Amino acid sequence: MTSLTDIYHRALDGTPLTFAEAMALWNDAPLAELMAAADAVRRRLHPEERVTWQIDRNVNITNVCVSGCKFCSFHCRLADRERAYVTSMEEYRRKIREMLALGGEQLLLQGGLHPRLDLAWYEELFSALKSEFPNVKLHALGPPEIAHIARISGFGSDAEGYRTVLERLVTAGLDSLPGAGAEILDNEIRRRISPGKCSADTWLEVMRVAHRMGLCTSATMMYGHVERPEHRILHLLKIRDLQSLKSDSAPGFLSFIAWPYQGRGTALEEETGLSGGAETAEFLRMIAVSRLVLHNIPNIQASWLTTGLAAGQMALHGGANDMGSIMIEENVVSATGFEGRTTIDAERMQEAIRAAGFTPALRNQRYELL
Ligand code: SF4
Repeated sequence: MTSLTDIYHRALDGTPLTFAEAMALWNDAPLAELMAAADAVRRRLHPEERVTWQIDRNVNITNVCVSGCKFCSFHCRLADRERAYVTSMEEYRRKIREMLALGGEQLLLQGGLHPRLDLAWYEELFSALKSEFPNVKLHALGPPEIAHIARISGFGSDAEGYRTVLERLVTAGLDSLPGAGAEILDNEIRRRISPGKCSADTWLEVMRVAHRMGLCTSATMMYGHVERPEHRILHLLKIRDLQSLKSDSAPGFLSFIAWPYQGRGTALEEETGLSGGAETAEFLRMIAVSRLVLHNIPNIQASWLTTGLAAGQMALHGGANDMGSIMIEENVVSATGFEGRTTIDAERMQEAIRAAGFTPALRNQRYELL
């Protein structure tokens, strides 16, 4: 049996860890030791003591969704005339102008799996946004949406269909693909929490196609619900193994972002009694283990949205090197009734990074410094 010290050294050398080694880190490593090892890996990859951050705006394309994720209070059915919306061009214009005034340059466009919005509709939307705002980057949709759009637009559910959809969306203006909707990449867990969402295999397949096309992507995880530690570790290994298939010239997954499930008031809480939350020690363990396991993913984000800025600052000393976006607008976590702060301004973000002992550096989606 490899000792924890040996495992830390293997991770520091950039050796891919085995499932058993990663499980040993999760189950047995003292948190302080784990964070110190992850910090050493972060220093090797990012020796300049800089922490990156970004200004973008999260706009939800629609809240209509057929997925029925049990942890989501944001979505509604098409028939719900009181709540259902599709964001209008006028609203995009207003939100983009506000974002530009704050120095932002990217829209994070996400939404539900709308049963009627097909590929042609998204092409028209992206083209319209790009023709009015050619410099605004569109970081949009995610593997579940790509698979859904391919299916309802008649392109099937295979790599060829996903490629067609992605290529046409890129032509229309898509700049990069977020790793949304990964939750836990295990089909049994997904069936329990997101019965209408694409399978783990489909999520990975869409990303494989995106990487082959040279698209810049990210990977995510939502943990702390019905999964067990081994599901989290297997999720990390699937992300790492997919990343190892991309060509050297493709950006692939530029970052990994894990956030804890917030389930107050959701159907999943009603069904399981689990309301989730942001237990700081578990969050820090997640960040540190991610940094040690994902040797081939350059950036680990301290997702402070649900854990709070203080936990995010601590994570910077345990493997994370990025604080994500200032989130000019956030609707999905807020819809659960979460009472924490889900947005901050640029000044506060930079203060938080400095207070943690690092130099703040504004970046774009490709992690280029601005
Ligand atoms: S999380 Fe996304 S895919 Fe799931 S129900 Fe909510 S909007 Fe739909």
